[in-house]
Amino acid sequence: MKKCLNDPIFKVISEVGASESTPVYVIGGFVRDIFLNRKSKDIDIVAIGSGINIAEKVARNLGPKTKVNVFKNFGTAMIRHKDYEIEFVGARKESYNRDSRKPIVENGTLEDDQKRRDFTINALAISLNTNDYGELLDPFQGQEDLKNKIIRTPLDPDQTFSDDPLRMFRAIRFSTQLNFRIEENTYQSIAKNKTRVDILSRERIVDELNKILLSPKPSMGFKALENTGLLNEFFPELQELKGVEKKEGKMHKDNFYHTLEVLDNVRIKSEKLWLLWAALLHDIAKPKTKKYIPDIGWTFHGHEFLGAKMIPSIFKKMKLPLNEKMKYVQKLIQLHLRPIVLSQDIVTDSAVRRLLFDAGDDIDDLMLLCEADITSKNEYTVQKHLNNFKIVREKLVEIEEKDALRNFQPPISGELIIETFGLKPSKTVGDIKNAIREAILEGEIRNDYDEAYHYMLKKGQELGLKPKH
Ligand code: ATP
Repeated sequence: MKKCLNDPIFKVISEVGASESTPVYVIGGFVRDIFLNRKSKDIDIVAIGSGINIAEKVARNLGPKTKVNVFKNFGTAMIRHKDYEIEFVGARKESYNRDSRKPIVENGTLEDDQKRRDFTINALAISLNTNDYGELLDPFQGQEDLKNKIIRTPLDPDQTFSDDPLRMFRAIRFSTQLNFRIEENTYQSIAKNKTRVDILSRERIVDELNKILLSPKPSMGFKALENTGLLNEFFPELQELKGVEKKEGKMHKDNFYHTLEVLDNVRIKSEKLWLLWAALLHDIAKPKTKKYIPDIGWTFHGHEFLGAKMIPSIFKKMKLPLNEKMKYVQKLIQLHLRPIVLSQDIVTDSAVRRLLFDAGDDIDDLMLLCEADITSKNEYTVQKHLNNFKIVREKLVEIEEKDALRNFQPPISGELIIETFGLKPSKTVGDIKNAIREAILEGEIRNDYDEAYHYMLKKGQELGLKPKH
C-alpha cells in the first residue's frame, strides 16, 4: 500500500507519531477510496493516544502558517493542508444509550476503533508506523467486500443499526452511490430496526437523501428505502404513491415506480439537486386527488396544484430550506403538465408565450422534467410526445428571440400610465397594465416599448381616457 501514500504529508505524520511514541494510522473513507480508484480529499488519522497532540505537532512541522482547529469536546483536531482536510482523533471504544446517537466514549485500541465503524469497507486502516509502514489492517475482510461490491457491518448489524440508526441510511446511500449490494443479514436488520429512525434528526436524514438523489441511479436507493420499510417511517407521503388500483378492468400506473423512473431520467441529464427534488415530488398529490370516473377511468385532476401546495409543509417537516429553493420546486411541480398539455394540441404561439412567461428562467429545467415524465411503455406514444416536444422547444427558442419573455418586465410602467392620462393610482392603471401584458402574450403586439405605448393609448381611449399632452 506504500505507493498509495505518496504525498509527503504521510511521512510527516509518521515521523511525529514515532517521536511521540504514539502509533498512527490512516483509516476510513480515504483507504476505501484508494481501492475504488477515487481521489479523496478527506484524510482521517487515528492515533493510539492523543489525536490532538499529534495534530498540533504535525502542524508545527508543516510550518508557522499551518493552523490547527481543535474540537476539545470531541477529542478531535483538524488541519487543512494543500487540498486536504486532515482530521486527527484518538482511537476509541464506544457504547450507546438507547435514546441517543451520541456514544459514551473511552480510549481504545485500533481494533476497538475499527469495530465502531459502520461498514467493513469503511473500517480499513493503513499503518503509518516505522515497523510496518504501508501495511493494510483489515480485520473484517473489507477488501474482499470491496472486491465483491458488498455493504456489510463489521459487527452484528442489529447492534450497529440500533446504536446509530443513521447507519441504515448510510448503508443504502453507499450502496446507491457505489452500486454495491447490501449483504442479506445487514439488509434484513435495516427492516428490523426501521423504527429507530425516531431518534434521528431530519437534517441528517436529508443529507443522506441528497446523496442518494445525486447518485448515478437514485431509484436504487429509494427502492431500498421503501422495501426495508424505512421510507414509511419518515416520508409517508412518498410511500403512499405506491400501489395500483383496478376498477372495471381499468388500472392506473404505480405512481411510486413511475416517480422513480422520472427521477432516474432527470438524473441522466442533470445534477441539479433541486430539480431532482422536484422530480421526486412532482406527483406527490396523486394519492390525494385520485378518482375513478366511470367510462373515463382514473383521474388525478389538479394534482399539480395540490402538489405545489403540499410542498411547504413537507419541506418544513423534512427541515428542507424554506426559501427560493422551495419556491423553485413548487413552481416546477405546479407547471409540470403544461408542456405536455401544450404538445398534445396544435402548438400555438400564444400558449408557448404564456409558458415562457410563467416559467421564466426555469423553462429549461421544466422542459427537462416534462420530457423525463414521459414513461409510457408504448414506444409509439413516447415518440409522438417527444416529437411534439421538439416542436415546443423550437417554438420556445423562436419566441424567446422575438419577444424576450423569459424575464418579462412590463414595457410600460404603472407610473407612465398615471403620467400619460393624469390618473391617480387606481384599479384602472392595473387594468391597462394587464391588458398590455395580455396583448403581448396573445401575440397582438410585440414585447416592445413603441408597440406597447400605442396599445396603451388605444386602451385608454376605449376606457374614455385622454392623454394629458
Ligand atoms: P462520504 O465522504 O462519502 O460521506 P466517508 O465515509 O468518506 O463518506 P464520512 O462520512 O466523513 O466520510 O466518514 C468517515 C469515516 O467515519 C467513515 O469511512 C466511517 O469509517 C466512519 N463513520 C462515519 N459515520 C459513521 C457512523 N454513523 N457510524 C460509524 N462509523 C462512521
